[in-house]
Amino acid sequence: MAAHINFGRREKPAHRHGPTNKLARFRPMNEVIPFMSRCPKCGDRQLQEGYTHRMLRRLLNTHANIEGYCGLCNEFWAISGLERDGIVIGLCD
Ligand SMILES: [Zn+2]
Repeated sequence: MAAHINFGRREKPAHRHGPTNKLARFRPMNEVIPFMSRCPKCGDRQLQEGYTHRMLRRLLNTHANIEGYCGLCNEFWAISGLERDGIVIGLCD
């Protein structure tokens, strides 16, 4: 998804000064935000790791369905309102 474009390279500070609280709280937009959603077929909560921060924000802002996926059942479903709320809380901290 992230285009590999290297021209016009910017000076980016590559060094990170140890673990800081600030960094822990900051979520880059291309970071994958894992969340749990219950598969309607097998009834198990499945870890969803297919969405980045940016994708989730867009889906939430446009009130589009966020789809969960279960690898065992090969099943897709729209996650529940409660599960959406959980993501919103997760993104806001
Ligand atoms: Zn399932």
